[in-house]
Amino acid sequence: NEGLGSWPARRARKTPHRTALIHRDRSVTYAELYERTTRLAHALRARGVRPGDRIAYLGPNHPAFLETLFAAGTLGAVFVPLNIRLAEPEIAYQLADSGAKALVHAPSQAPPAAGPPGSTEVRTYVEVGAAYEDLLAAASDEPIDQPVRLDDTCIIMYTSGTTGRPKGAMLTHGNLVWNAFNVLVDHDLTADERALVSAPLFHTAGLNMLTLPVLLKGGTCVLVESFDPDDTFDLIERHRITFMFGVPAMFDQVARHPRWDGADLSSLRILTCGGSPVPTPLIATYQERGLTFLQGYGMTEAAPGTLFLDAEHAVGKAGSAGVPHFFSDVRVVRPDLAPVDVGETGEIVVRGPHVMSGYWGLPKETEAVFADGWFRSGDAARVDDDGYVYIVDRIKDMIISGGENIYPAEIEDQLLAHPDIVECAVIGVPDDTWGEVPRAVVVPREGATLDPDEVIASLSGRLAKYKIPKTVVIADVLPRTASGKLLKSRVRSRYGTTS
Ligand code: AMP
Ligand code: MG
Repeated sequence: NEGLGSWPARRARKTPHRTALIHRDRSVTYAELYERTTRLAHALRARGVRPGDRIAYLGPNHPAFLETLFAAGTLGAVFVPLNIRLAEPEIAYQLADSGAKALVHAPSQAPPAAGPPGSTEVRTYVEVGAAYEDLLAAASDEPIDQPVRLDDTCIIMYTSGTTGRPKGAMLTHGNLVWNAFNVLVDHDLTADERALVSAPLFHTAGLNMLTLPVLLKGGTCVLVESFDPDDTFDLIERHRITFMFGVPAMFDQVARHPRWDGADLSSLRILTCGGSPVPTPLIATYQERGLTFLQGYGMTEAAPGTLFLDAEHAVGKAGSAGVPHFFSDVRVVRPDLAPVDVGETGEIVVRGPHVMSGYWGLPKETEAVFADGWFRSGDAARVDDDGYVYIVDRIKDMIISGGENIYPAEIEDQLLAHPDIVECAVIGVPDDTWGEVPRAVVVPREGATLDPDEVIASLSGRLAKYKIPKTVVIADVLPRTASGKLLKSRVRSRYGTTS
């Protein structure tokens, strides 16, 4: 077995007594992880799971998530992580679309009621807890020697669906291995890493940027069911956390928390932020605290690590998403795929052993996102003289006003420098004269009152006039995905139609 399924056995051979996982008061050594994974694989095989079959998992971060992933890999089956925040029909869709035969789920997650005949092929349901433990106890712990190649599909991961219907990105064992190597090389991870996994494992970042690289190296992952800034301070201090990965919204909540000033953060060595545009004021806050704040850019389809800004350049190139990971090739191109000039905005395309083999069951959609072997990200960026890439925004979020292209992220960055604004989103709204004009939707700091005219005035002189929002709407919260990504389409439908 060349794939991920062999990792627990390989780790158990080298470091059986080291702690692989911590969840609440329980810890799992690598030897235990190997034994539990093997038992689960036997149990699933006895229930009819064959190589290539799909096994879904529905639940918050828990050791059983990783045991199911490794058991699937042991059998040559494909793991399908499901997002617990989806509505029941959405979960039912992903179960049916992937054709999952087995579902392992948390007690808090009732499996969707059976739909019309043929809609789901799930035949085996396993509830994490007593039923799961009984299953393991009754199963054999004999090693399983199922051939699995690096080119075989390991995971089908549904993209977060900020646009349209979710598509299942097929990631091979090789994709995940090369991504883990990229993280190891570029983060300088050691066997003593203690990672705080509060990002959901069912998303690419929590699993592939944080957990899998640390397990490959023999470090420890502290699994947390849901992110909470107050708990985060406790966990960092209790477990002497060295490595965290999160979206900007998460790091922002930590830095705004009353415990920020007094907390002991001395164990933290690597903080990587990514997944959506990273505001420059946030980078400054962490740097002023003396913490190295790295930035990563990636996408589910690239498993996900693509660009990375390392510690050496975190200050000098602050605001850039860095240069390609070691085993990744990235270009910023014009529509005809010719590389842009320095300073010119183009689309990021990526190629490398970490890029997915395609979308599950969607050959046309797969063909549409690849050009000449390059995966088209849909993200706009610029490159500087040294080859450092600056993410500009999603191409489809671009506003065109009087013939000028406006990327909302640039305006959002300026709005976040306002002391009373904690969150914001800029969208385009129809305008008789200009075609479209920018509108800002802003969330005030708790206890603060915002005056739309004052917000607009605060931007003057800092942005070109055509980029300054014509209207400002005050909101309580902004719609986000489970991973904290802003749902621009929902901001547009909610705030973009009224005048
Ligand atoms: P997903 O497919 O859910 O993994 O989301 C990938 C998308 O998140 C990318 O295509 C970008 O639009 C966005 N993204 C990820 N990392 C960054 C970053 N560091 N800066 C800006 N946008 C990012
Ligand atoms: Mg995407």
